[in-house]
Amino acid sequence: MWSLGLALIAMWVYGMGRQTQRPVVGAVATGALTVLISSMFAALGTLFLAIYSQVSMLAVVLAGVTLVIAGVRTQLAFRRLVKLADIRHIAHTDDLTGLPNRRALYADVPARLVKRVNGPSALLLLDLDGFKEVNDSLGHDAGDLLLIEVGARLAANLRDEDLLTRLGGDEFAIFLNDADRDDAIAVAVKLRAALAQSFPVEGISLHSSASVGIAVFPEQGHDLKALMRRADMAMYRAKASRSGHHVFVAEDDSHGEDRLRSLEELHVAIANDQLLLHYQPKISMVTNEVHGVEALVRWKHPVRGLLYPVSFLALAEEAGLMGKLTDVVLRLALDQAVVWQQRGLFLTVAVNLSASSLVDLDLPERVGAMIAARGLASSTLMVEITEDFLMSDRARAKDILTRLRAGGVRVSVDDFGTGYSSLAYLRELPLDELKLDRSFVLPMLEDSRASALVASTIELAHSLGLTMVAEGVENAKAFEELARFGCDQAQGFHMSKPVPAEQLDLWLRQRGADVLAE
Ligand code: C2E
Ligand code: CA
Ligand code: CA
Repeated sequence: MWSLGLALIAMWVYGMGRQTQRPVVGAVATGALTVLISSMFAALGTLFLAIYSQVSMLAVVLAGVTLVIAGVRTQLAFRRLVKLADIRHIAHTDDLTGLPNRRALYADVPARLVKRVNGPSALLLLDLDGFKEVNDSLGHDAGDLLLIEVGARLAANLRDEDLLTRLGGDEFAIFLNDADRDDAIAVAVKLRAALAQSFPVEGISLHSSASVGIAVFPEQGHDLKALMRRADMAMYRAKASRSGHHVFVAEDDSHGEDRLRSLEELHVAIANDQLLLHYQPKISMVTNEVHGVEALVRWKHPVRGLLYPVSFLALAEEAGLMGKLTDVVLRLALDQAVVWQQRGLFLTVAVNLSASSLVDLDLPERVGAMIAARGLASSTLMVEITEDFLMSDRARAKDILTRLRAGGVRVSVDDFGTGYSSLAYLRELPLDELKLDRSFVLPMLEDSRASALVASTIELAHSLGLTMVAEGVENAKAFEELARFGCDQAQGFHMSKPVPAEQLDLWLRQRGADVLAE
């Protein structure tokens, strides 16, 4: 008994030591508990033995001390457990509303789904409409108060067994136990009706509405992650259609997957030389010479064939691929300029820059290096920028354009007349050319106002010392009219569509060598 007692004490001390190294885990570790319980039994056993037989006094005292220490130790473990439960509660609770939070949702729902394999349940994502306006106009405190009230009102309209959580911001997730599609819709309608009643916040009565996306288990997802994704898509659909609530259907997803597929393909296209350029000439209206061409990007898609910018530029912009695309276009355009120059054709090549090129402060240096590496004169390159490029961040645009132009690159304002900008930038920025948008040129012959605008824009350009180029010149009449107004250059289907370089060579040759500028 003595040796057993000593061994148990030694084990207990060992257990305590481990525990101080890993306090939280140790408190619940079964190993430590086994040691504790066996020590208590051993001590009790010793005491029982002392009743019936002769046991040394020291053993009895030691057994008593063991029991006292074990009692204290149990008390400590109990306190730790309570504290642990507190921490868990805090970690699973949203500070502002006191509702369970996202962590609670992810901790709780998977277990509920396992239990509900045979019956339906539903996940609702609820997002307040116009919450940002409340925050912006009344301040964050009012926004917070509104969220608290909304949380309380939602809770009051749900059953005890449902799980209401705040995911963050103005977004709530609700898991309905034992609810099919119709039940879920009924709950969504009820909750929206409850939120439609005004909220008294800081003495004002606020009105709130919400959009609810619904995904039903198990049809629309077997786990929480799938249900969340689909409820989210349904919620966006509800918001976009202003329908209040929407139950996920397969079509809601198709756009997303299509988009991902073409995004992946666009990455490949940029990396694997599937992008190519077509060139459209700009023709002098005075001498009929061709001074330059505009490079327009195309995508030779392996399955869909030749794609025009309208079908992929927005995607490139959204996906942050515009910088890479612009680099490819610059490389192809400058390479082509080299080929032309080797044949004695000194054409200015114009490349379109998008507004996102503004974030790229290294652009002027990169462009300079690309031109130098090919031994070209800087004036071979022209960049075409739109007014939104100029307007999105005037100071940055000015910085980038000034550095480009200081390097000798020429600058043109594209789609001139379509932006809602002030004309002040014409005075401030370093420019060479204005390209009158085709929406003025096309109706010019029928519409006297359009033709007056064209005439005065040409005058404006000249008074600023800029070259005027008309886009969208589709017929001889428009060409003649523009020439009469004194327009410098023309570009459009009347002269040539944008075509591959070889085809442009052919076109140039047919026009005769005399029309080429030196
Ligand atoms: P944009 O810069 O205004 O380019 C002229 C567009 O007008 C071209 O369309 C061209 O095919 C079309 N066009 C030319 N002549 C005529 C005509 O007589 N009548 C009519 N109705 N249209 C004419 P495209 O090639 O589809 O390009 C569309 C737009 O895509 C371009 O408009 C430009 O903003 C953008 N884009 C094209 N290539 C690039 C590029 O490499 N980078 C960037 N960032 N944008 C590009
Ligand atoms: Ca252009
Ligand atoms: Ca244009």
